[in-house]
Amino acid sequence: MEFATLAQYFEKLEKTSSRLALIAMLSELFRLVESPDEIEKVCYLVQGRVAPFFEALEIGMAEKTVARSIAIAYNTNPEHVLTLDATLGDMGLVAEQVSKEAGNVSNVLHVDDIVQGLKTIAQTSGKGTVEKRIALLADLLGHVDSLSAKYVVRIPLGNLRLGIGDPTILDALATAKFNNTKNRKLLEGAYNKTSDLGLIARTLWQQSGEEDALRAVEQLDIQVGKPIRSELAERLPDAEAVIKKMGAVDVQYKYDGFRTQIHKDGHHVSIFSRNLENMSHMFPEIIEGTRKQVQADSVILDAEALAYNPVSEEFLPFQETTRRRRKHNIEEMAKQMPLKAFVFDILYKDGASLIDKPMVERMKILEETIKTDDILMPTSNHVVSDAKTLSLLFDEAISKGLEGVVVKKLDSPYEAGARNFNWVKLKRHSAGALHDTIDCVLLGYIFGRGKRAALGAGALLVGVYDPKQDMFVTVTKIGTGLTDEEWRGIKERTKRLEVDHKPARVSSLIKPSVWLEPEIVIEVLADEITRSPIHTAGKVGDEPGYALRFPRLIAFREKDKKPTDATTVEELIEMYQSQGKK
Ligand code: ATP
Repeated sequence: MEFATLAQYFEKLEKTSSRLALIAMLSELFRLVESPDEIEKVCYLVQGRVAPFFEALEIGMAEKTVARSIAIAYNTNPEHVLTLDATLGDMGLVAEQVSKEAGNVSNVLHVDDIVQGLKTIAQTSGKGTVEKRIALLADLLGHVDSLSAKYVVRIPLGNLRLGIGDPTILDALATAKFNNTKNRKLLEGAYNKTSDLGLIARTLWQQSGEEDALRAVEQLDIQVGKPIRSELAERLPDAEAVIKKMGAVDVQYKYDGFRTQIHKDGHHVSIFSRNLENMSHMFPEIIEGTRKQVQADSVILDAEALAYNPVSEEFLPFQETTRRRRKHNIEEMAKQMPLKAFVFDILYKDGASLIDKPMVERMKILEETIKTDDILMPTSNHVVSDAKTLSLLFDEAISKGLEGVVVKKLDSPYEAGARNFNWVKLKRHSAGALHDTIDCVLLGYIFGRGKRAALGAGALLVGVYDPKQDMFVTVTKIGTGLTDEEWRGIKERTKRLEVDHKPARVSSLIKPSVWLEPEIVIEVLADEITRSPIHTAGKVGDEPGYALRFPRLIAFREKDKKPTDATTVEELIEMYQSQGKK
């Protein structure tokens, strides 16, 4: 496929504000692709990447360097490019315009050439990297038409802005291959196990018959090196409710750290975050610990990494754990405040997937696999069948400064990506407030009045996630919980996500001053969930939706959560129904 054809689709996709139209256009695009190789690439490109997002293949070019590529490609000077950028506010639009000014009509590159070119840019390293990258990008730009140029430059800037989520791509793949979205569930199963849309698309396109395609996708299993979507926990109000609903359970401490999925393949160890990004660089001591303590050639472990102060014997909260940033700072912190990984599951060992084995059996294998030492520690666990003992264990966890406990059904398999009653969390809660915080997604912000006007933003419009529709629906406006500094930072923090119309996957009756692509997750505490006619969360027909009362921002969670990891409408309704019971 010529890249110019793809660019025309990008242009249409970018303009739409309806999700159904997105699926229709995407499936039309997918139908044009014939080879398995190409469909894989198209899937990554639609998301502004050239590889699955968990592969640390960052192209990451700065605006100034991209401006120089544009200047070289179209024979103008970088100042002209930067001046245009100041007016247009988007380097993609600048590239398109400068290319037109230069009368550039060359149009010879295919999807494959662009992916190869961008990969080469990403892999360029060593002396003179910046200059080499500028020249390589300029060369690509010189060989594509103006519209293509707009999208080609946005990829290395990490700013494609099509706003297409993974579930929408799965719907479009199903529509293209089977003419309906009936089989999306099956595709989703493969996605939960591999997190790799390109792999799923390639597998589908390798088969000509529908039955064969379905079977091939069904057979995709977990693989070392590809993060598995995390199993998540439901909520119940107290120990009595747990025992009544679940019977005997395994009780484990709930550590409030950073969820880490540890993949070991021989000597090679990778660590993925809860949002499935490769975060290996952040955890040098856990990588070392895995090499030392794991007695198996290959494993996948599910764990919580936590800063632990050996002097005071304190577990430190999430914010402390994630203070590690740049290389030097990481090394320094690894010395000062080494992390432990409390391992609570094993999903794979020496070539065999363990996810269908019952939980208790996995715990046994886990114990046999980790040699006792002081970095990887299997979680504390006790099988309990009465509410009183469960309450005691909960109190003990709280007294140790932990968040509470997670209880697990003894015979449950590991259900990738599921949140159900296999796992239930019991957390401490402050009087009056809801039992748990809610993870919301920033959808826009509203300019402030008075003092807030000077800060640039006065309220945030936020939503929760509706996985059935793959839509973000509004749940509240937030005006508290941020410092003046944080309000001032909102514009800067969200600049790359600004769009001039309501994004296709957002449903809202409120129009904020600035719309944002749904990407940033924030943790919110509220006093209560109420019914509300002005919010779209859980709103059906004329019935009111659900909203948060007295919401305040607790933390920005974009480091470890993707927008689709936000609290779901279903959870919100469950929380609404269970509030006041305890
Ligand atoms: P929270 O914000 O309450 O941590 P969450 O939305 O991140 O919740 P949940 O599924 O609600 O995720 O709760 C499970 C989380 O608790 C896991 O993602 C993991 O990070 C953490 N955790 C800590 N200890 C355990 C444990 N023993 N077993 C499972 N998860 C644990």
